[in-house]
Amino acid sequence: MARIVMKFGGTSMAGTERIRRVAGLVRRQAAPKEDGAGDEVAVVVSAMAGETDRLVNFCREANASYDPAEYDVVVSSGEQVTSGLLAITLQGLGCRARSWLGWQLPIRTAEAHAKARIAAIDGAALGAAMAAGEIAVIPGFQGVSDEGRVTTLGRGGSDTSAVAIAAAVGADRCDIYTDVDGVYTTDPRIVAKARKLKAVTYEEMLELASVGAKVLQTRSVGLAMKEGVRVQVLSSFTSDEDAAADTLPGTLIVSEEEMNRLVEDGTMERQLVTGIAHDKNEAKLILTRVPDRPGAVAHIFAPLAAAHINVDMIIQNVGRDKGETDVTFTVPQSDLPRAQALLEDKREEIGFGRIISDSRIAKISVVGVGMKSHAGVAATMFRALADRGINIQAISTSEIKVSVMIDEDETELAVRVLHTAYGLDAKD
Ligand code: ASP
Ligand code: MG
Repeated sequence: MARIVMKFGGTSMAGTERIRRVAGLVRRQAAPKEDGAGDEVAVVVSAMAGETDRLVNFCREANASYDPAEYDVVVSSGEQVTSGLLAITLQGLGCRARSWLGWQLPIRTAEAHAKARIAAIDGAALGAAMAAGEIAVIPGFQGVSDEGRVTTLGRGGSDTSAVAIAAAVGADRCDIYTDVDGVYTTDPRIVAKARKLKAVTYEEMLELASVGAKVLQTRSVGLAMKEGVRVQVLSSFTSDEDAAADTLPGTLIVSEEEMNRLVEDGTMERQLVTGIAHDKNEAKLILTRVPDRPGAVAHIFAPLAAAHINVDMIIQNVGRDKGETDVTFTVPQSDLPRAQALLEDKREEIGFGRIISDSRIAKISVVGVGMKSHAGVAATMFRALADRGINIQAISTSEIKVSVMIDEDETELAVRVLHTAYGLDAKD
């Protein structure tokens, strides 16, 4: 007997037919095993695909400067519907099930409406109900503030709800059912020989998620790492004949210690690079002729930070004779107009020549815990790209990641070349 949290995304919950399929998977997880008792199960659900967008639009139409507290009342309703429907469907299959809304558990949140953070979850009542054999169905994405008002966690927040619930009830595993069957070495739409990974570490998943591999909400991975929740990403589009979740058909997201054990027992192969991600959503800014003196760079980045614009890669060129230098950096494409306007405003203070912007860039990142203990990962990357005539415009690194900025048109080629260079291509 184990304690399992199952999470189903919007595509899996889109309509009564699909909810019935989800209910079948939940029933199978909770059913008595050969050795006796069934698992204790809690299910976290998203709203039906497209529903949250529809609700957001209603708010905008009603009043462009809507009250975020009322926005939360509206947009949290999508999950209320699917949680109730799943409980009803499970009951129809002969299972004991009930829904628990965010304010009923409660899931206490702090900070702002529309982007609240989970502060605490009281797992006592939930744990007791699960132990008594009742399936708990919980709407993701929602919580309750100290003032007793409904809150939501920010888009994609149901993943975080699921991980937080798993931590609160001490679950053995949090299975995130989605429309892909796991985490791949790279985007399978670009590289046909991409392989599904049996396991990745929290750190790797965080890096992959932050550089464009959008399988889980990034915040949920950070929470899983902090709380030590074992997460599995797997497909919800399976039937009773397919391998059960307990056989771990998806990708496990685990601690480095567990990963080391998986390598030792032969489940995983030790790789230098685990995955390759690409991100076309960044834009490049160049400020020319910035004075080469202490404080110059601080003048550039302070206003951007104050405006919550996330700067990623930065290069400051070697100063020229006249005591001037060029500074190049990247920001999210959606923030480019704001960043440009802010810098124009501060032109006097910073003292620069021109602003040049370019959104036709891509960031390609290779990620792997293996590179902590091995040299030469970056060199392999630079050589492989050079051999194909791909020009590198900027570089950044962390302990487990090397990223390069290249021309957007060369994204697919670069990903393919690197996938081969690191020996990640599937064998057949
Ligand atoms: N329904 C919410 C959204 O679409 C939360 C989620 O599904 O994760 O953002
Ligand atoms: Mg999602």
